[in-house]
Amino acid sequence: MIISGADWFKQGAVRDSRRSVDEMHAMLESAETYQRDQEVSMLVTIARYTYPYEAQIARALLDSEGIEAFIADEQTINMQWLYSDALGGVRLQVLAEDRERALRLLQEDRETALVEQEGDDRPACPVCGSRDTEYYQIGRRWAFLVFLAIDFPLYRVRDGIRCHACGAITELPSS
Ligand SMILES: [Zn+2]
Repeated sequence: MIISGADWFKQGAVRDSRRSVDEMHAMLESAETYQRDQEVSMLVTIARYTYPYEAQIARALLDSEGIEAFIADEQTINMQWLYSDALGGVRLQVLAEDRERALRLLQEDRETALVEQEGDDRPACPVCGSRDTEYYQIGRRWAFLVFLAIDFPLYRVRDGIRCHACGAITELPSS
């Protein structure tokens, strides 16, 4: 078969471009692999806090679940806490592979805190009937102070409700 100079050139160009596409694929693949490998040990920010102690609490929670967490910018914030918001707060970071689990744990913790704060089904106040009440642990403060002082839980903490409308604190019947 006789091919013209132009055809020969075209075929060569196709061969060259095909090779370079393959080469580009290979380059992209190795770049992606490299990136993946990097991400495995990369730290990602999962939360921001205005104050370092908030980040410390979250970090302790994750730590108790076996997730290593790191606090970034803490030094800067401690020295210039006024600028905390400007800097975007204290960052809580975890390894990329722990990200999903850490976020789920923090989310669960927040939901638990909200339920404790709001109450799922708030009981009516026996004194005035208002539903504007909150769960209240009667004797908690004393129990805590006594426990601190003599290292023994002398006071019994009882579950009660506090009414926001009339201020009454009523002990809940123990179940
Ligand atoms: Zn009441």
